[in-house]
Amino acid sequence: MTARLPFTLAPLDEEPFEVWLHAYAARLAMAPDQLADALGLPARRGHGTAIRPSAEQLTSICTATGLEPRAVAAMFAPCGPAPAPRLLQAWMPQRTTRFCPACLAEDPGQMPAAWSLPVTFFCLRHGQLLASCCPQCGRRPTSLAGPSRAGRCTGPDGCGGVLGTARPPACADVPAARQAQEAISDFAAGVRDPTGTAASRRQALGQLTDLTIIASHVAADDPRRRPVRSVTLLSAGTLTTAFTLLTVRPGTRDADPLASLVAPVPPDAVPPAVPLTWHGARPALRARVARARDAELRPSDRLRYATTLPEPLLPVPRPAGQPDLAAVRAARLPDQIWPDWAVRLSDEGTVRHDKLLPAALVALLLPHSDMPLHQITALVSGRLHRHVIGFQVGKLTTATSVLRILTELAFALDAHDIPVSYRRRRDLAADTTLIDDATWARMIREAGMRLPSIGHARRYLYELLTGCSLQTAPPPYRVTSTGSQARYDDFAIGMPAPLVTALTVHARRQLDTWGIGDEPLQWQPPASWVTATSWPGADPASTDPAPIHHGLLREQATPGQVAASLGISPGHLRQVLRLHPLPRPRRPVRYTIIPAAAPVSPPSGQQPGVIYLDPAWLGEEYLTWQRPLNDIAAQIGCPMQTLNTFARDHGIPVRPRGSQIGIASRAAPGHHPRDLPEPLRHALTGRNARRSLHRLLAITEYASIHQAARELGIWPSALYEQVDRMEHACGGPLIHRRPRRADPGAFTPLGQLLCQQASDYLGLRRVPGQFATVHADDR
Ligand SMILES: [Zn+2]
Ligand SMILES: [Zn+2]
Repeated sequence: MTARLPFTLAPLDEEPFEVWLHAYAARLAMAPDQLADALGLPARRGHGTAIRPSAEQLTSICTATGLEPRAVAAMFAPCGPAPAPRLLQAWMPQRTTRFCPACLAEDPGQMPAAWSLPVTFFCLRHGQLLASCCPQCGRRPTSLAGPSRAGRCTGPDGCGGVLGTARPPACADVPAARQAQEAISDFAAGVRDPTGTAASRRQALGQLTDLTIIASHVAADDPRRRPVRSVTLLSAGTLTTAFTLLTVRPGTRDADPLASLVAPVPPDAVPPAVPLTWHGARPALRARVARARDAELRPSDRLRYATTLPEPLLPVPRPAGQPDLAAVRAARLPDQIWPDWAVRLSDEGTVRHDKLLPAALVALLLPHSDMPLHQITALVSGRLHRHVIGFQVGKLTTATSVLRILTELAFALDAHDIPVSYRRRRDLAADTTLIDDATWARMIREAGMRLPSIGHARRYLYELLTGCSLQTAPPPYRVTSTGSQARYDDFAIGMPAPLVTALTVHARRQLDTWGIGDEPLQWQPPASWVTATSWPGADPASTDPAPIHHGLLREQATPGQVAASLGISPGHLRQVLRLHPLPRPRRPVRYTIIPAAAPVSPPSGQQPGVIYLDPAWLGEEYLTWQRPLNDIAAQIGCPMQTLNTFARDHGIPVRPRGSQIGIASRAAPGHHPRDLPEPLRHALTGRNARRSLHRLLAITEYASIHQAARELGIWPSALYEQVDRMEHACGGPLIHRRPRRADPGAFTPLGQLLCQQASDYLGLRRVPGQFATVHADDR
């Protein structure tokens, strides 16, 4: 049965168990381990990491201390590790004490408890160092002098000498010692200041711990390798130096005097960024230690401690209960870096951008994170393999400039708003069929392509909408092999501009459907967010797409060949084509016309390029109505050459090229020849018919055909010839050739009929000046 302790010490808000235990032990004048025994706790092996007690232990702690079970349990709640007990000793009262001889000479009864703290070394009142040895026997006097022996050397071996007669040690720099003591006393008081907040006490404890760790290195014979084990005998000089080192604002790497205390990295070793002897220090101090070892660190550690920045950027302390920076960033970012950034960071022909993109994103999560790399990797996706990522991060970041860009980008992302909610989009895309078969069939038909897999279209939309990697995407978007990745890349590279536009419009509509239409479809951080002026790779946005288009379309080269000939990476080529898609498909549809009884059917959605056509219908259109073949080909949606072959195969005599008789659809838009009355139908027959009609109508605005020709800027003979041809086609004179009469109407009745029909069917009117210009589409 545990005995009730003489008094209760209520834990402060969020006070870790170890700190409370040490404070309690100090008040009880016990060693912390003794107190732990008294509370029924077994020997504590974990340094500073108190293990949650069993129910039985909890009961005995409550019995001994008079605390509520809730108050005891709260001290074991995870709110950051407490410093190791070895470090907590620095502000524990000790059995021996230093003392101020001047204070004791004035009042021998004064032996403040603060003198027995290892971090108290200076009397602020007298401005001198505390003495530590009895002037008579040279031993350290005990701190627990009874009232009768006040001011004397006491204890089992005490000689009884009068301590007030001791000489204080000489102090080389009184102002520095005073400043250090004032600050350190504040830290020590702040650790258990009942009026402070949990955060202010944690801050004080952190400062005191940092100071103790630095001091333990300063005091050592070989400070870089083996700090002193016991912090209970730190000298005044050590503590003053440690305080100066703690508070100095480090400038560039070489200027940080702390570096002389940090062990160099042994050759051929993969060292931790922060040596074990510095564990327990706060992030800012750890960052300084890592900076001192920057040159030998692994890329991931250089990122984590932001050591490649020109000026040190110290981590901001993370309040208890707040998630790690890596988790905060992962929630805001896609699961791969933006492809343009990846290209600017690495543009070698050998780089595998599909592997590099997620690795670069992991790199962005590292700066100032406390999470191990494998946990960060898992944050991004459970499908990423830690060693692959580690390898890729290493490959990506061999150059200091790359590390610096990534570090700066990470902090810039922390500081800015990101207009795309990547995580939400990823979740929504996982539950949506991004495009259906019918829509896709229509798109590719309109783009004149053979039917590519709808799976690729869905992947393309997934990338467009989420900015995420297909390697880690949920099914059905995921690419499961190198082969399927290659097939998808070919698809994305070969997409013609109309198809890209159609899919982009489709994606925008999807955002509206999801209710996030106010977000941009795609986004990437501007390059100006980092200070880099020269980049390891090229910028896809400033690459000329013309040679790429030429290589892929005219020379039928593979994307790999085109990239190699231009000296860019395949990833770079892909990004340029995303910005500037090919103007037409690399492999257009091969059309087949199948004879059928039905007049004509458009290409079927399931079989692009297959057209059913009635030869009799074609004969009537071509022979009877004299429609140009290219007109008919455009109507049924197939290449002219295919239709030409089909016509010959079915005994339809094809007119030689250039003999454009018949009515082209552009001469009478929206009208089939059979719908047009005479003489208009014949007037529109033949080459440049519409232009001739324009001119004919314009002639009556002028005094003579001669003057009209001059005003229209053509030879009179050419105009006479056109009028003759038109009259021949219409079967009679259209314009009076007699000398001008007073009556301005120069048209014959047939000409007036033609004029009326041109107005009714083609919307052409005799308005002065209107016909004087020849329309571009009229040639
Ligand atoms: Zn004094
Ligand atoms: Zn003595």
